[in-house]
Amino acid sequence: MSNYYNTGDILRAYDIKPTKSLGQNFLNDLNVVRNIVDCGELSKDEAVIEVGPGLGVMTSMLSEEAGLVVAVEIDQHLMPVLEPLALSRGNIKIINKDILSLDINHDIIESIIKPAGFTKVKVVANLPYYITTPIAMKFLEENVSGLEKLVFMVQKEVADRMTAGPGGKEYGALSVAVGYFAEGKTEFKVPPSCFSPRPAVDSAVVSLNVRKEPPFELSDKDFFFKVVKAAFGQRRKTLANAISNANYLGASREDVYAILEKMGKDSLIRGETLKPEEFAVLANLLFENKNK
Ligand code: SAM
Repeated sequence: MSNYYNTGDILRAYDIKPTKSLGQNFLNDLNVVRNIVDCGELSKDEAVIEVGPGLGVMTSMLSEEAGLVVAVEIDQHLMPVLEPLALSRGNIKIINKDILSLDINHDIIESIIKPAGFTKVKVVANLPYYITTPIAMKFLEENVSGLEKLVFMVQKEVADRMTAGPGGKEYGALSVAVGYFAEGKTEFKVPPSCFSPRPAVDSAVVSLNVRKEPPFELSDKDFFFKVVKAAFGQRRKTLANAISNANYLGASREDVYAILEKMGKDSLIRGETLKPEEFAVLANLLFENKNK
């Protein structure tokens, strides 16, 4: 089958056993790889960062579309597969490190991407599922210079949570956080049969277009995220209870009632009914209340 990448043969040839604890579910369907790469809308004047290149199947396709590929892979057992690929292509740089240990601006943008003459950056990755959220949030929170778009394959449930709007059960702190930094959408679903070994969950590809300007004004960004976390941390409680129980937000139940009244909201509402921009108003008023 021409659209099938024979992952098993490569693993046998290099005597590699997939490591479950590193989330090693390798893509074996080249149509899916092509569709993920297409979501990146790459061009030769852009650099792309790939997290977890694995056996290099997507890395190879990315190197045809982008000017430079920086691929960060934690597992040194995969270097015998990845290093020859990098040598043969000339525009692939492999970093054998844990992505979470890197300072992306310092270690990748300033040290590799800018010196190679690139200013526009995208991220395309089939993420290891045990650390999906920390990796996605790292790229969003570190204010990565030149970053325009992220395309991630993640568990379907995480894709749903990343792109959810107010009201539904998927809407939570992750939806608000991702929405603050980017405009996200789910591109397509991918069944377990497209991987070997097969993961236990369905997957989906999300694309996140990084916002050039924040969607709303915040008095204090960290405080905003604390408010959002507190609001969703106790989902069965009313918003007023959840916020006043979080002592570090410095608001009594009466303070929260007064703020909700000011916002024209019922005192019994739950956090999941607030839109991100309403969380911004709430957080700004709570911040004012704390510092008065
Ligand atoms: N891109 C390949 C593919 O699509 O077939 C492999 C994807 S696999 C789901 C995830 C990859 O991330 C594995 O190669 C794994 O070793 C790597 N990985 C896991 N944890 C990592 C980390 N902290 N930093 C960098 N890579 C990591």
